[in-house]
Amino acid sequence: MTEQLKNDNAEILDTDIVFNCPHCTKSLVIDQSAAGMLVKCTDCGEEIEVPGGAVEEEALHEQAEAPEAIPTVLDSAAEDLAAALAASQQKVQELVAEKQEINKRRMHLEDERMANLNRFKLISREMNTITAAVGRIMNALRNVESGGKS
Ligand SMILES: [Zn+2]
Repeated sequence: MTEQLKNDNAEILDTDIVFNCPHCTKSLVIDQSAAGMLVKCTDCGEEIEVPGGAVEEEALHEQAEAPEAIPTVLDSAAEDLAAALAASQQKVQELVAEKQEINKRRMHLEDERMANLNRFKLISREMNTITAAVGRIMNALRNVESGGKS
């Protein structure tokens, strides 16, 4: 047996097992690796079993269970991600549809703009024709006026 009970002046570590001798109730300290081992009490010399074996086993059991909790968390994270991905794919489809709708409207507006432009050209041409006609009428009137005077 390598583990020995620590003397009263020894530093107590977090990992140490602290227990009382069942014979003389002296407070005893020993390294956790001695759990379940038999040691001799430093005070009364009785052979006693170091407690903590069951606790150790429980701690190991908890450690063995811990990794199972991680996949559960990962599963839920993966589900969240899948849901978020599906939502964003839906959003992308909506945006694509919206973009197509805007393009359609833009092309329609472009058509209208071209139609208006052609209408303006037509009006402008008619205005030129009218202006020219008015000019000819004015000239004719002037000729009539000067013809009447002379
Ligand atoms: Zn004792």
